[in-house]
Amino acid sequence: MSPRGRRLSPKTLCTDIVDDEKTIRESWTFCELVQHISTNDKAIEWLAKYKLISNSVTCPACGNPCTIIGYKQGIDGKRWRCPNHNFSRSIRKGSVFENSRLSLTTFTWLMYMWSRDYLLFEMAHETNVCMKSIIDLIRLVRELLERFLEDHPAELGDVPPEIGGFDLETGEPKIVEIDVTKFVKSKRNEKKHAKEFWVFGGIERGSEKCFLVPIEYQNKEAFEAAIIRWILPGTLIVSDIWAEYLEIDQIQQGIYTHELIDYNDSEDTEIHTRNIDKLWIRLKKQFQRKHIKFLFQSFLTEFTWRAHFKNTDKFAALIYCIKHLYKV
Ligand SMILES: [Zn+2]
Repeated sequence: MSPRGRRLSPKTLCTDIVDDEKTIRESWTFCELVQHISTNDKAIEWLAKYKLISNSVTCPACGNPCTIIGYKQGIDGKRWRCPNHNFSRSIRKGSVFENSRLSLTTFTWLMYMWSRDYLLFEMAHETNVCMKSIIDLIRLVRELLERFLEDHPAELGDVPPEIGGFDLETGEPKIVEIDVTKFVKSKRNEKKHAKEFWVFGGIERGSEKCFLVPIEYQNKEAFEAAIIRWILPGTLIVSDIWAEYLEIDQIQQGIYTHELIDYNDSEDTEIHTRNIDKLWIRLKKQFQRKHIKFLFQSFLTEFTWRAHFKNTDKFAALIYCIKHLYKV
């Protein structure tokens, strides 16, 4: 033993937790991230700092803090332990990493690459992980985004995913443009069996926050449910003439105003749907580019989530969402 004596086994993984406000304002590059997660030990400390894994664990038998000990058999090389009660716990317990077989470093790299819109084969090349595992990870990430949009954690002070309502500064109604569009998904050489998908969507003018809902049968009820779910009362909804039959201004005794485009007045600066037209173009471009088309609904969720965090670094936004969904 050195003259200074052996260091006590640590009871926490890191000493400086990063708060929400800082997390969401950060911006990342691959090089910066690699410095923090290049080894297992570094990754563990970094993940604890962002509250993606528990920073400390209490022994259920004695209530004392567990210590972190080396554990060579495990993928992470460390685990929690209470020496008095034969209690041990994985450092992944309760975290987004719990059911993954990937190393913490690789998992985090893949999340970063997803956030930067890397293509599947690029992710596979950079990490040496097979396509199937990467698809599983993307599936998991998209499920998280869906949970975040569906059940936006109440403790978050930021804006909810719903769009429209009133402008808090001017008191004026916000404008949401709505429309439907068709997607065609065909397998290679199988044009005959091409599948059609209808998507109903809306975009908040100014913020570009949006919602996208697959519509199987174009009945009034389905549209109405989507409008009530996603558009806040008070909104001025603008659409093309097709939406006239939805009687939007009658919904719930008139919580919305509805204006239809007048094609005799193409110069109208307020009653137009140019933003949703542009959104369809962006969405279809993404649809062509992304290779995982089998999960159409989750593709729409990802697009909506990215629009919600338009002005935020997407990796920072992902960390922020995960830490609110997994209370470690
Ligand atoms: Zn104990």
